[in-house]
Amino acid sequence: MCGIVGYVGTKQALPILIEGLKRLEYRGYDSAGVALVADDAIRITKSAGRISVLEQCLDHDDNAITGIAHTRWATHGAPNDINAHPHTDQSERFAVVHNGIIENYRALRTYLQNQGVEFKTDTDTEVLAQLIALVYDGNLEETVRKALHEVRGTYGIAVVCKDEPGVIVAAKRGSPLLVGIGEDEYIVASDASAILAHTSQVVYLEDDEMVRVSQDGLRTTTLEDIPVTKRIQEIEWTLDQIELGGHEHFMLKEIYEQDAALQNCMRGRIDAENGTIHLGGIADVARELTRAKRIILTGCGTAWHAGLVGEYLIEDLARIPCEVEYASEFRYRNPIIEDGTVVIAISQSGETADTLAALEEAKQRGALALGVVNVVGSSIARTTDAGIYLHVGPEIGVASTKAFSGQVVVLSMIASYLGRRRHMSQPAAEQLLSALDRIPAQITSVLEQNDACKKVAQDYVDRENWLYLGRGYQYPVALEGALKLKEISYIHAEGLAAAEMKHGPIALITDDMPVVFIATQGSQYDKVTSNIEEVRSRGGRVIAIATEGDRQIAELAEAVIYVPDTLEPLQPLLTVIPLQLIAYHAAVLRGCNVDKPRNLAKSVTVE
Ligand code: GLU
Repeated sequence: MCGIVGYVGTKQALPILIEGLKRLEYRGYDSAGVALVADDAIRITKSAGRISVLEQCLDHDDNAITGIAHTRWATHGAPNDINAHPHTDQSERFAVVHNGIIENYRALRTYLQNQGVEFKTDTDTEVLAQLIALVYDGNLEETVRKALHEVRGTYGIAVVCKDEPGVIVAAKRGSPLLVGIGEDEYIVASDASAILAHTSQVVYLEDDEMVRVSQDGLRTTTLEDIPVTKRIQEIEWTLDQIELGGHEHFMLKEIYEQDAALQNCMRGRIDAENGTIHLGGIADVARELTRAKRIILTGCGTAWHAGLVGEYLIEDLARIPCEVEYASEFRYRNPIIEDGTVVIAISQSGETADTLAALEEAKQRGALALGVVNVVGSSIARTTDAGIYLHVGPEIGVASTKAFSGQVVVLSMIASYLGRRRHMSQPAAEQLLSALDRIPAQITSVLEQNDACKKVAQDYVDRENWLYLGRGYQYPVALEGALKLKEISYIHAEGLAAAEMKHGPIALITDDMPVVFIATQGSQYDKVTSNIEEVRSRGGRVIAIATEGDRQIAELAEAVIYVPDTLEPLQPLLTVIPLQLIAYHAAVLRGCNVDKPRNLAKSVTVE
């Protein structure tokens, strides 16, 4: 969470910082601020609210050539002007921007107060600025190193000092940080999108590494001051991939990109004609993986839902016992990792703090640790033993859409890859992979149902409680549909395994409640239609996602959105699309900020 940008170079820093902040705004947007260093002073401007609010407070003529900036997602202290970053020490000699949580901030605060330091904010970050000032010895890099030795918790930080204009010191533990290398300039950032307009050359910091950038160059060291030679890498993403390109919202753009994104995800990986799958990222661990006795999928939010689909896929196609765990629970519940246990972490950003921690826990306990990640070079990708990238392109909308589909495609490829190596026949694999190959074109046709989805949103948008029900492969889709609706439109929605309804939630059903059934043709179709009847007989307003040509459903539901037929294990890839569109239109109709929903942020880098 939170966006950090820092600039050192020969150009005016402010426009570069603001442009970077705008690109990072999806990572946190409750307040924002800038610190510019020049003429023996640090000039700080910060304000609650969006970056557009900050822009109105800035002196756009400030021609400082060094600065740091931040867009916040508050963890400690209300999202107001005072608590916005950058934070300074009492003498305003230093400014700090921070992503993460200083876990021992209370103890440090008390210690500093006993030394006579007066605090201005409620944040954990301010202790860092005050501590740096207290231990300053005339060398910013050394001082930051010394201060960080006292800190417990997670951080990506960038620090400037008025006595050393033209220098930024940055450090990382647990939160992402990279340095873009331009011509006579460096841009420190928490995310590649902030630097893409200037350079595609980048150095990624590892945990417990620091960097000092200035006109003299870039110097990377460990927290113990051991020099580190970093590899300069090339960012694969292009600028147009992180721009709206005429779309009203990133979420809509990304929903519509799903056909092309999934084609990219599968490119060079599936050979439908021969029923084979090539997954280069896991080739080195293929033997160990094929012998897996148990697979644990772990993730958070939408990635956890993709994991639930993965559980069905892996048990169904590969016949390997599989379970799905919330990363936050897995980490803290003393998990059993036996010989032959494989843990697969699922995360769009590859920076999700809970998922990263779960993965580290699994590795420590001896599991083979794999990743299903979108962002190349991200922390999770670097921590795994092997993994498979989604290759669906950058996802900017806070509500995940194409990453979910990409995760499901990758998990279906892993399931078929393992199935094929264990027991799946060639004809069965050919059939599955041909169906997978057809999915992108089928998604294009589902997207043509946009108007029908919008109509559903219009007809039911004033209802404050919705249910989403599905069975088997459609149960995780029900959860995902409900999550999409609640996170962007703030309508209360619950997803359930349809059969569970009568064990309690049926009590909620009134003639006012929209109930979305994912009722495609498949092994449990008859059971689902019985569940629909149960809802109807209690007055519920049934909306169905059904297979093209299904006439019976039209008689049972008030509204039906049709999707093309495919094999049951792949149906989630089609049925989730209308649910994404319904949520999108409901949010727009309610006047919600679709790409920056209340209280949320992309890439949850705090636990
Ligand atoms: N913990 C810090 C705060 O609440 C940083 C939050 C962030 O990552 O935006 O200010």
